[in-house]
Amino acid sequence: MSWEDKVRRVVPYVPGEQPKKRNVIKLNTNEFPYPPSPVLKEALKNTDQESYRLYPDPYGEPLRSAIGECYKVSPERVFVGVGSDDVLSMAFLTFFNSEKPVLFADITYSFYDVWADVYRIPYERIPLNEDYHMVKEDYLRENGGIVIANPNAPTGISEASDPDFFESIVKGNPDSVVIIDEAYVDFSDSSMLCLTEKYDNVLIVQTFSKSRAFAGMRIGFAIGNEKLIKYMNDVKFSVNSYTMSRAAIEYGIAVLKDKDYFEETVKKLINSRERIKKELKELDFEFFDSKANFIFATHKKLKAEYIFKELKKQDIYVRFFNKARIDNYLRITIGRDEDMDRLIIALKDIISKG
Ligand SMILES: *Cc1c(COP(=O)(O)O)cnc(C)c1O
Repeated sequence: MSWEDKVRRVVPYVPGEQPKKRNVIKLNTNEFPYPPSPVLKEALKNTDQESYRLYPDPYGEPLRSAIGECYKVSPERVFVGVGSDDVLSMAFLTFFNSEKPVLFADITYSFYDVWADVYRIPYERIPLNEDYHMVKEDYLRENGGIVIANPNAPTGISEASDPDFFESIVKGNPDSVVIIDEAYVDFSDSSMLCLTEKYDNVLIVQTFSKSRAFAGMRIGFAIGNEKLIKYMNDVKFSVNSYTMSRAAIEYGIAVLKDKDYFEETVKKLINSRERIKKELKELDFEFFDSKANFIFATHKKLKAEYIFKELKKQDIYVRFFNKARIDNYLRITIGRDEDMDRLIIALKDIISKG
């Protein structure tokens, strides 16, 4: 048996392209289009460089406490990680450890099946209905755990319009951990954080990467019952004690504290999203009612892949997934207003020629 037969093989997750070219309009990875809070400049100036000699706090303190304060929960109920990808991966490793399949939607964040594969966790993809909504009854049967992105990616659909949706899944699965991935929740008003007060089997995962304009700093967090968080930390400390750098801890607190800037820029983005919905409709696009910072759209006449390639020729990058059920859709991140204006001009041009 060669060493290659012993390799833990996996088909990796493919992140959206990060083009090297300048002047690209980048609407392909759901980054926030505005810079991080300006208070960051001050924090960078005042940082204690001498302290970088020392290891950071293994729990990510005092960032963990700052997050706790912001969401009105004790620090013992907060877990911080290197982006929510790290947090989700640790949660998979900690809570999904049975012979029964973990359940998630057939169309959702495409990292879930990659983590399940790399950790050898059995799983089952549950088809969304014909309107691309989840059917809650599908999640009320024996399983090894459940993970739900809400708002969902890449559709942008939130299931919170049914006020009972999440609670009935959490309540109906007392023997499994239910992870709710709220990467886009700040662009909606549908956080299920309140469920963590009432149930010990629900974990809410959020990130600084989207609404807080901090994808490059890699900060994500989870909030849950104290016991859940303790188990996650046990696993994390068995892999890598010092995940959060001193810089991430310090600058994370700085941007978290600037609530006004956060609320103002998120509001601006939501306004752009709603404006773009109208403009796309006029161009014969159809799309879901996105509650995220992107729109998942299909054109009535032109193929998504064709539009994707034509936009790229004009240095406008959007995301196209060559996957069943969604291979005629484009996921368009909401950018600055001037970026969106250029997108609309480019789309008009492509449609008139197409
Ligand atoms: C972007 C995203 C994440 C992870 O982002 P991080 O940068 O690792 O925090 C997690 N889940 C979903 C659904 C996402 O879209």
